[in-house]
Amino acid sequence: MRCEALRAARPKALCGPLRVARCAARGGARCEAASGPMTRVWLLDLDNTLHDALSVVFPRINAAMTEYLARELELELEAANALRMQYWRRYGATLLGMIRHHGTDPHHFLRETHPFPDLRTIVRRDARLVQALRRLPGRRIVVTNAPLHYASQVVRALGIHSQIESIVSIEAMSFAGRLQPKPSRPMLRRLVASLRVPASRCVLVEDSVVNLAGARHVGLRTVLVTGISHRSHHPSRRARAGSSRRIDVQVQSVAHLPRKALRSATTTR
Ligand SMILES: [Mg+2]
Repeated sequence: MRCEALRAARPKALCGPLRVARCAARGGARCEAASGPMTRVWLLDLDNTLHDALSVVFPRINAAMTEYLARELELELEAANALRMQYWRRYGATLLGMIRHHGTDPHHFLRETHPFPDLRTIVRRDARLVQALRRLPGRRIVVTNAPLHYASQVVRALGIHSQIESIVSIEAMSFAGRLQPKPSRPMLRRLVASLRVPASRCVLVEDSVVNLAGARHVGLRTVLVTGISHRSHHPSRRARAGSSRRIDVQVQSVAHLPRKALRSATTTR
């Protein structure tokens, strides 16, 4: 029975050999996955939500992307970096610009720009994270615009794989002939449908206000995590819970989420 529930929980519409990775979860996550359509589903962003990617990981990814553009498009590093930034601002992801304007193979791009043989040693772990996820009632799924091989390594490095039911990576966000990562509303609708729960039972936990706004439009509950991405922002530019009706709850860290979730509308709607 537990296996059947897990099969039903698998987001089939997004499934493929590289698309949805089932974590080697045992115990708690699997039992709770069998709880039915009214179970709360926590959709957890990865970078700068579950770990600090700003300090080491993102600078290395940015450098690898710049080198990739320079190599593939035969550009000087400075021009490649400018183009990377241009695509990132225009499309929300450098990869989308590379696909649109240069016909880049997304798998090749993702593989070449996320080379982290030493990931385990550079990922910053919050010692409270495992316990916090364990206390979150419901299913816990990582939803990230990062590639699967990278996301899987980070989840392992954080030691949270036993608390995560599956990973929805950017490879899973390809349909209708193109990649549609967060904050794509069609992608979020497909994801929710594949989970077989009402959108109102899903909570997107994110550091990106833009992604939360997309989720809010399709009926998800939203939690803004401010402790990492927002630390360098001027206070007046920080989003607050309730701002533009996009954010239901705001926490500094996912470690604070269980306590807040128990009190908030995210558990009562
Ligand atoms: Mg993030």
